[in-house]
Amino acid sequence: MTVTETHAETGFATRAIHAGQEFDPTTGAVVPPIYQSSTFVQDGVGGLRGGYEYGRSGNPTRTSLEIVLAALEGGDKALVFASGLAAEDALLRSALRPGDHVVLGNDVYGGTHRLIDRIYGEWGIRHTAVDLTDLDAVRNALAADRTPLLWIETPSNPLMKISDIAALAELGHAVGAQVVVDNTFASPALQQPLALGADIVVHSTTKYLGGHSDVIGGAVILRDGELTERLAFQQFAAGAIAAPMEAWLTVRGIKTLDVRMQRHSENAQAIAERMSEHPSIEHVYYPGLPSHPGHELAARQMTRFGGMLSVAVRGGADAARRLAESTRVFQLAESLGGVESLIGYPSEMTHASVRGTALEVPENIVRLSVGIESVDDLVADVEQALDRLG
Ligand code: PLP
Repeated sequence: MTVTETHAETGFATRAIHAGQEFDPTTGAVVPPIYQSSTFVQDGVGGLRGGYEYGRSGNPTRTSLEIVLAALEGGDKALVFASGLAAEDALLRSALRPGDHVVLGNDVYGGTHRLIDRIYGEWGIRHTAVDLTDLDAVRNALAADRTPLLWIETPSNPLMKISDIAALAELGHAVGAQVVVDNTFASPALQQPLALGADIVVHSTTKYLGGHSDVIGGAVILRDGELTERLAFQQFAAGAIAAPMEAWLTVRGIKTLDVRMQRHSENAQAIAERMSEHPSIEHVYYPGLPSHPGHELAARQMTRFGGMLSVAVRGGADAARRLAESTRVFQLAESLGGVESLIGYPSEMTHASVRGTALEVPENIVRLSVGIESVDDLVADVEQALDRLG
């Protein structure tokens, strides 16, 4: 029986709390223990208990995380890694051969672009970065070359563009490409790419899934098949696995994912509305605003609009940097998706690696990861920081 079948009948929030998280049969502990062990005793040579042999090939705490992730994304199998980029790396190595071509969004996470461009470029992988909201451009890019992978990120980072997963999946499948969605920004609580037609979901579990800024991790979720077998072999043979403690923290974070995403979305909507009215703000990029070009699509494709937003600040780079340095509740830091609010200056922080490329982020952009603190405190914080811009 697949993971999807086991939990098919329960609601999302129930799966988040129970899938892969049965109580400990020996002691009755409601929370399964962290199996902080590198190896497992054998009952005679090859006599494995529960299939566990050595910590790189498998660990029960890692299995627990893999089961809940597959159940939440509606996949047959999840494999978890030491970071989001380690997950992407293992997937790319499993799906591509030298000479292959990848089509990806022209505003994907800078680290994804760096991996495909600078690491895979040296191994003969070519890529084309396109605006994923322009379906003709995507069709042309896919047709130009043999393309086994179409890489989608929606909402995108940091400009919050929304692309149509179902339409893009059709375009990809028409040329035999497998369609990957980086679902880090939305999380499975807000968006279900496999149900929309994608083949593979990737995550930086560091973000909303972990949810507490205390763990680095990544995951790939997909259906049973040859690619899944190759990916599982890569995980075992190259070894960039999630460690037991990290897996356990991520499982604990996932239990509250549903309620956190609700609160993140409500808080971000309030901040987006307030910031759009402020004279120091030129533009707010948030799909929950009716003025956002992807608003209607996001309303169809997502259940809520999420906790991330970016703003273009009047006064250019200097004013944007000052805003990022003037908040008190929002802390100036890389990353996103934790319970605490963070603010960042992408062109010199998260997206410094794409400066000078087609993916460059304008210098007046500030990105906010809106946490789940009291909304009044968050609104007051951005207002005092904006007022100081004068
Ligand atoms: N994908 C997205 C959308 C991200 O924002 C990030 C990190 O910021 C990653 C992937 C990479 O994840 P990690 O930092 O866990 O390697």
